[in-house]
Amino acid sequence: MNTQDINRRVRLVMDLRSKGIRDTRVLGAMERVPRDVFVPAAVKDQAWDDMALPIGRGQTISQPLVVAIMSEALALSDRDKVLEIGTGCGYQTAILCKLCRRVYTIERHKYLLEHAERRFEELRLRNVTALAGDGMKGWPKMHGIEQAPFDKIIVTAAAREKPPQKLLDQLSLGGVMIIPIGPSGDQMLKLYRKDSIEAYSVRDIMPVRFVPLLPDIASDNEDAA
Ligand code: SAH
Repeated sequence: MNTQDINRRVRLVMDLRSKGIRDTRVLGAMERVPRDVFVPAAVKDQAWDDMALPIGRGQTISQPLVVAIMSEALALSDRDKVLEIGTGCGYQTAILCKLCRRVYTIERHKYLLEHAERRFEELRLRNVTALAGDGMKGWPKMHGIEQAPFDKIIVTAAAREKPPQKLLDQLSLGGVMIIPIGPSGDQMLKLYRKDSIEAYSVRDIMPVRFVPLLPDIASDNEDAA
């Protein structure tokens, strides 16, 4: 790591602190995970700035502040099993890997998922399982093994009106889900807590801008767009 790299990392962490992030585990993870590895060559120079950037296929890597706020709100422990919907470039996934026991992540664009998986290999992140599919359907039973329920669920694309029922079903009792809700231009980041099998408490975190949560795996056409 050269001096410039260290300076950029320290600057990002100071920036996040000044914007209200207090969780030292989250700040430590954001200092350690190299965001430049997750963005296309054309925007590498801006990788350590607190801004969202394009990652291809019309999708974006979230702004570091939003990644930090979502990670902090989940109050992750190293015992947690986490489900993430919307792997994208895999940056948020990598942060989660540093903060919990195991991450299961789903992305509907195969192209994005393959690139994210290569980065997980490169960074030797071993506690993540990635899948191409429709995350609105939750994590599927595979080879007879059910991974649900999850202690925490994080959705990084916006649902129009409410969280997909299957995701609420896959949350453990006392579990927490963070998800942006609302149409483009009018989204609120919300935190759901599963108090009992059918009762949830909901809290608004802040207004946000995310790409929409879309059904089904992306077609090859859409994938090549
Ligand atoms: N956390 C990511 C954010 C990527 S943007 C990052 O930091 O890079 C949101 C992602 O959600 C997009 O890649 C989009 O393709 C994906 N997405 C949208 N609907 C989905 C669905 N139903 N299942 C899985 N992924 C979905």
